[in-house]
This record gives sequence, structure tokens and C-alpha cells, in this order.
Amino acid sequence: MTDTAQTPVAEPELIACPQCDALYSAVAPGPGERATCLRCGTVLIAPRRNAFLRVIALAITMMILMFGATFFPFLQVRVSGFRNSSSVFDAALAFVDGPMLPLSVAVAALIVLIPVARAGLVLYVLVPLAMDRAPLRGATIAFRWAERLKPWSMAEIFVIGVAVALVKISDLARVDYGPAFWMFAALVVVITLQDGYLCRWTIWKALDKEARK
Ligand SMILES: [Zn+2]
Repeated sequence: MTDTAQTPVAEPELIACPQCDALYSAVAPGPGERATCLRCGTVLIAPRRNAFLRVIALAITMMILMFGATFFPFLQVRVSGFRNSSSVFDAALAFVDGPMLPLSVAVAALIVLIPVARAGLVLYVLVPLAMDRAPLRGATIAFRWAERLKPWSMAEIFVIGVAVALVKISDLARVDYGPAFWMFAALVVVITLQDGYLCRWTIWKALDKEARK
């Protein structure tokens, strides 16, 4: 008589391609290797040595840059002797009283708060894992939210929008870039790098392993 109930056989672990939904059974790649989708080439699993530490460092960098990018002067516009410089924080506050309040809230949330919240959630999940400790309470929910908020984190899109607007404005006025402008430019790079190092599969697997202990 076989006793399968007592000795559970490991279920084959499936992984779906986020781009084209092709289904594969997941196998951890060897050192230096990565798993890509056969159909569309999307990277599915890319564990890197010290990736957790790099993501943590980038998340902290991102929070510091975002602080400066929000409060330091972003642009200075000069038209016929008049000068006006403002920060992203000033711009968001400019619409607080009046019918544009939802715009104000949306700008603050999409450009500043959600990216910072995502970095915070990622830190909450990864710091214990990087130190070989058990995840903090609710780490799974925190990571799920970090992933769910990703499409709403629009700091990079904001930079593209600003670039387009500047081309239009530069005909009318002289525009000088403030420190916050360059901080936003650096943020785009940091956010892209962070997302590149963040291997979801590795993190879910680490969280899952700890949850089963
Ligand atoms: Zn694919």
C-alpha cells in the first residue's frame, strides 16, 4: 500500500509569461543563467547574486532622490524680465483650492507618493530576506501591493511629459533646469535599474519557502 498522503510529492511549479501567457514549469536556472520565454523572449527568471542587496540600495536611493526632486526647484521660467521658479510640491499645491483639486491629488499620488510607497514596500519585503531572516508580517501582501501599484507609478512618464512641454515652452520663454529636474532624470534610471534587478520569481519563492517553515 502506498502512502502518498503522508509523503506529498512536490507539485510541478508553473510560471506564466507576463507578456504572452505561455505556461512553463519553473526550474531554477543555474548560476549566471536566466530563463526566458521561448515564444516572445521575455525574461522569466533571472536570479542574480546579491540582487536583493542591489534592489534595497536602489530603493533607498530612489527615496532620497524623490525627496529632493519634490522639494527642490524644478524649473525656472524667465519671460521679459520676470522670473518664476517652482518645485513639484509647489505645482501640486497650486491647484489645492479650486475645482482642480483632484488634479493636485492625482499629481502628488502618481508622481511622488506611489513610487515612494512601492520603494517602501519593497524594502519591507526584501530587507529581512537579504539578512536571511524570516519575512516580516504581511510581507506577501506587501509584495503583492508593490506589484499591483507598478502601473500607477508614473515618475518616469512625468519626465517624458515634462520634456514634451519644455519643447513647447522654450519658444515662449527662457527655461532653466533646477536641481530637481536632474534628480528626476536620475530617478528614471534608478527605477529602471531597480525593476531590472527585481526578479519576482526569486522573491515569491523566498517568501513561499519561509511561509512553509
Ligand atoms: Zn512570452
